[in-house]
Amino acid sequence: MTLSEKINAEIRDIKDFPKPGIVFKDITPILSRPKLVSEIVDWFVEKGKQDKIDVIVGVESRGFLFGMMVAERLGLPFVPVRKEGKLPHKTIKHSYDLEYGSATMEIHSDAIKPGQKVMIHDDLLATGGTALAAAKLVKELGGKVGNFTFLIELGFLEGEKKLKTENEAVYSIVT
Ligand code: IMP
Repeated sequence: MTLSEKINAEIRDIKDFPKPGIVFKDITPILSRPKLVSEIVDWFVEKGKQDKIDVIVGVESRGFLFGMMVAERLGLPFVPVRKEGKLPHKTIKHSYDLEYGSATMEIHSDAIKPGQKVMIHDDLLATGGTALAAAKLVKELGGKVGNFTFLIELGFLEGEKKLKTENEAVYSIVT
């Protein structure tokens, strides 16, 4: 089995979560399989080496799971991007539109140094709004987006197109 097939075999489709009409991809069964977790980390670590990444940014909250492991393995700093009001120190914010309403993401203002090359990581790429907000925060602090990495990409939502505005690399294990 390929890595993509192994991940697919573990993902659960949860109907009508968190709202009616949505089919939620539940990745938690993957976390119970340590060998699979290692293989996934290896895959992201390669992308980090390949693109000479300096910092791993993980998006709340499932982006913290693999993001932190990848950072540790590469010996690189990990930086969380969180929903508004969760980070305790001085932050900058970016708001973006959702299907209904809007959301705001934050990053600590001193977390990225100008010129650092960043991997933006999350579990899943849907419309790309969340990852794009993280990219904007990184750029506002003077960082460069080296790549975006995801376990899963919902191809039909074309989030990749949205992220590639400046030709950044977008890598997903499963599409
Ligand atoms: P986007 O901003 O539309 O690309 O949505 C991506 C964000 O929503 C990520 O932070 C995901 O963790 C979360 N998300 C959206 N749909 C799912 C899903 O089906 N499973 C897990 N996370 C999801």
